[in-house]
Amino acid sequence: MTGEKILIVEDERAVARGLEYGLRDAGFDVQWAENGLRALSIAEEWNPHLIALDIRLPDISGYDVCRRLRGAGHRQPVLMLTARDEEVDKILGLELGADDYVVKPYSLREVVSRIRALLRRAYGELALNSGPVTITFGPIEIDLERMWVRRNGDPVDLTPTEFRLLRQLVANADRPISREALIEAVWGYDGELGNDRTIDVHMRHLRQKLEDDPGNPRYLLTVRGIGYKFQPPASWL
Ligand code: CA
Repeated sequence: MTGEKILIVEDERAVARGLEYGLRDAGFDVQWAENGLRALSIAEEWNPHLIALDIRLPDISGYDVCRRLRGAGHRQPVLMLTARDEEVDKILGLELGADDYVVKPYSLREVVSRIRALLRRAYGELALNSGPVTITFGPIEIDLERMWVRRNGDPVDLTPTEFRLLRQLVANADRPISREALIEAVWGYDGELGNDRTIDVHMRHLRQKLEDDPGNPRYLLTVRGIGYKFQPPASWL
């Protein structure tokens, strides 16, 4: 599956190139506009999932681009790229409909993680299921494609079953999932290997490996009478 379409609007060629390579490397489909009017026309034709928008452009400003996009009914998330802190007040104060911002000089890692968060917020599971995705909550980092988990930067040794269970819970963030649904998702219909008790055992192991206080979990919660749910951090909501 191809990655989400990201439009970069940035007049400095070197900056745009860096972003472009970085975002492609992260699995996104990328186009670049070097000025505001070009951005509007690409947005119209290509309908990107997200727009990363520089404020200082040679023709119309990023503020104007954002205002016109919203005026034309475009609802995709906009990440503003600002050169200075003082522009942040303006972005927020103008209520342009920008969703988030980063202040230059930003790290590529920061931009990618903001973009993923915005996509997740805007498109939910769609974003989770397409392309390589790293999910971060608290000290935990999950790479869904490479199937590894880190905690405070150190690899966590999960069994394949634990990984599938975790992936299923995280992909349905904030929604309770019954034990039966988890068994089906983890072992398939041929659920010989799994029963309610095995799920509970695997959940206990997951908590021991991932939670700071396994007896009082913060992310992997029991939903009484139903099963379990992944409680996403406040920053996801
Ligand atoms: Ca600029």
